[in-house]
Amino acid sequence: MSNLETDYLIVGAGASGLAFADEMLTRSDAHMVLIDRRHAPGGHWNDAYGFVRLHQPSVFYGVSSRELAEPSLDQTGPNAGFMGLATGAQVAGYFHSVLEERLLKSGRVTWLPGHEFTEAGEVRNILSGEIQPITVRRKRVDATYHTNSIPKTHTRNFQVAATVACIPPNDLPDLASQYAHFTVLGGGKTGMDSCIWLLSHGVPAAQIRWVVPRDCWLWNRAFTQPDDSFFETVFGGFLNRQRAIAEATSPQDLALRFEAIGMWMRLTPEVEPTVYRGATMSEREVEMLRGIDDTVRLGRVQKITSSALHLERGELPTPPETLYIDCTASAVHAEKPPVPVFQDKLITLQMIRFPQIPFSAAISAYLETLLESDAEKNRFTQPIYLDDSVAGFVRSMGPDFTNRLNAGTHPQVRRWVNESRLDGFARIAANVDRADSAKMAILRELRDANFAAAANLTKLLAQLEERAA
Ligand SMILES: Cc1cc2nc3c(=O)[nH]c(=O)nc-3n(C[C@H](O)[C@H](O)[C@H](O)COP(=O)(O)OP(=O)(O)OC[C@H]3O[C@@H](n4cnc5c(N)ncnc54)[C@H](O)[C@@H]3O)c2cc1C
Repeated sequence: MSNLETDYLIVGAGASGLAFADEMLTRSDAHMVLIDRRHAPGGHWNDAYGFVRLHQPSVFYGVSSRELAEPSLDQTGPNAGFMGLATGAQVAGYFHSVLEERLLKSGRVTWLPGHEFTEAGEVRNILSGEIQPITVRRKRVDATYHTNSIPKTHTRNFQVAATVACIPPNDLPDLASQYAHFTVLGGGKTGMDSCIWLLSHGVPAAQIRWVVPRDCWLWNRAFTQPDDSFFETVFGGFLNRQRAIAEATSPQDLALRFEAIGMWMRLTPEVEPTVYRGATMSEREVEMLRGIDDTVRLGRVQKITSSALHLERGELPTPPETLYIDCTASAVHAEKPPVPVFQDKLITLQMIRFPQIPFSAAISAYLETLLESDAEKNRFTQPIYLDDSVAGFVRSMGPDFTNRLNAGTHPQVRRWVNESRLDGFARIAANVDRADSAKMAILRELRDANFAAAANLTKLLAQLEERAA
C-alpha cells in the first residue's frame, strides 16, 4: 500500500468535515485526505428517515461555496408560507455532489470511504483491516465530535419482546398500513416528525399514543427565516429576544419571556417544558401535535412486552396491532466535554455558534488559513457545550455571544461572517438600504439591546456557576 502524504487529514465526512474541506479549498492551496467509516459523504443524512427535513431553511445550510437550494417558499403542508426545508435525500444528494463535483474535481482532496481513525491513531480500512500509512504535514481535523445518534443506527436502552413490532421511523412509511395503532416513543423532533407524518397521512389522532418523557421548548420557525421579506418578524424578534435576555432573572424566567414574545412554544399549555434542544416547529405543526390526546408523560421507556408498555412511572396496556416507532436516539451528543478547537497539530471541530454546525466548521477553516497562533484562532471559536436543559441553553449563550462579539471587532473575520451564506442573517443586516429608516431603526435598537443582553447574561452565568459550586 502506498504512503499518502497530505497537509490535513480530515476524519469524518459529514456536514462538519465537508464544510471545513470546502472552505480550505477556497482559502488555501492545501491538500486534504478525507476519511469516513461510512461509504458515502454526508454523515448521518445517509441514514435519515425518509420524511426527515432540515430544521432550518435550506438556503443557509451546507458548505460555503455551493447553494443547497434556491430561496423559495413552501406552498403546501404545515410549513406553507415559510422558506423551503430540504428533505434528507436532498441533503444527502447535495453532499454527494459537493464531494464529487467540487472536492474531488479540485485534485486536492483524496477520499477514503470505509476507513476509520482508530484509537491508536491509525487510518484503518474497515473491510480489509489494512492500515493505510499517511504522513500528515500540518494537522489532523477531528470532524467527528458531533457524530449524531440517530434512530436507524443507535442502540436502544430498553428491552423489546420478540413478538413486538418496534421500528425506527425509517420503516414507518412501508409498514404503517399493516397496523391499527401507533405508539411513538420519544418527545424530541424525530418523535414530533413521526406524529406529524402519521396525522398528515390520514391516521386519526385517536389511534396515536405519544410517549413524551420530558417536554421540550420549541423554537418558532417564523423567527428562522433568512430573507429580507421576513425582516420585521426576524429582526424585530432578535430585538425582543435581546431585551428578554437583558431583563431575565433566571433561566426559567428567560424561557417564559421567550414564550411571551412568541419565540419559544410549548406543546401543552399546562406543562412547562424543562428541555431545550433547538427543535424548530411551525405554529401549525404544534396545533397538529396538540390534537393527540393520548400523550403519555410517565417517564422513559423501560421495556415493551407483548401486552404492555413499561415506563419509569407506570405501565400501560397496549392494544393488539400496535406498531411502536422508536424515536429515542439523542441526535447530537452532549456527553463529551468541550476542548479548544485549535490545539497544536489537532483541530477539533465543534459548535461555536448555536445551533449552526456547518457554519462553525467553515469559519474554523477560514481562521486556520487567516491567523497564525492557536490562541488567536480560539478567540473566535469558544466551543458550545450542548446540554439539553434550559440552564444549559443559557450557558451555551456565553461562548456564542463571545464568539460573535470577537468576530465583530476583527475587520476580516467580520467581513467573512457578513458575506457567509451559512450565517443566514448577517448578510441581510449588512445589506439593508441605509435610507430605509424603519429597518435601520430596528438595527440600531438591536445594537443597543445586544450590550444590555451581554451585561445581564454575564450575571446569569455567574449565578449558574455559583449554584453549581
Ligand atoms: C434529523 C436532523 C435534522 C437536523 N437539522 C439540522 C439543521 O436544520 N441545521 C443544522 O445546523 N443542524 C441540523 N442537524 C444537526 C446535524 O448534527 C448537523 O447539521 C450536521 O449534519 C452534523 O454533521 P457532522 O459532520 O458533525 O456529524 P455526522 O453527520 O454524524 O458525521 C460524522 C461522520 O464522522 C464519521 N466518523 C465518526 N467517527 C469516525 C472515525 N473514528 N473514523 C472515521 N469516521 C468517523 C461518521 O461515520 C460520520 O459519517 C440535524 C440533525 C438531525 C439528526
